[in-house]
Amino acid sequence: MSFLSTELPYRRIKLDFLEFPYSKFQEAAVINYPCNYDFTCIGEYKWFLNNKSDKTVVSYEYPEEFKLGKSERYYPIVKEESQTLYNKYLELAKGTPNIYFLGRLGDYKYYDMDKAVERAFNLFEEI
Ligand SMILES: Cc1cc2nc3c(=O)[nH]c(=O)nc-3n(C[C@H](O)[C@H](O)[C@H](O)COP(=O)(O)OP(=O)(O)OC[C@H]3O[C@@H](n4cnc5c(N)ncnc54)[C@H](O)[C@@H]3O)c2cc1C
Repeated sequence: MSFLSTELPYRRIKLDFLEFPYSKFQEAAVINYPCNYDFTCIGEYKWFLNNKSDKTVVSYEYPEEFKLGKSERYYPIVKEESQTLYNKYLELAKGTPNIYFLGRLGDYKYYDMDKAVERAFNLFEEI
């Protein structure tokens, strides 16, 4: 994956939603496919709330490169060179008051939801 030397790389996910005319598509809410296919995960939403229906909706997740102006950043791509670049931005921002970085995109960390919320609470207390 290539990126400009000043641009932090991120990736996104493309979600394809499909409806099927039967009650269950798979045996769990989320099944990951790490290696075998071009999609990496299938989610079936009715498992979460135990919905009853003759139909089902599933989402296929495809990993994609983030493209500026075309898509949205979902995850940082944390590698040595991108972390070094991120640290340079942190250093640069130190000279400017009232700038705070947080969250998955701003901290450039692969947070789960609980960690993203915890980080927001902690920064709030700090400020
Ligand atoms: C497909 C998927 C599945 C996930 N599943 C789980 C799970 O099962 N459990 C779990 O704990 N976590 C899960 N996560 C992770 C969870 O969604 C994140 O940890 C959480 O959303 C991070 O919150 P955040 O506020 O840091 O970032 P985000 O929720 O990404 O919020 C960033 C916001 O910034 C906005 N933004 C971006 N660029 C700009 C800009 N230049 N100007 C203004 N606004 C901008 C975006 O539009 C977005 O609204 C999942 C994430 C994805 C993508």
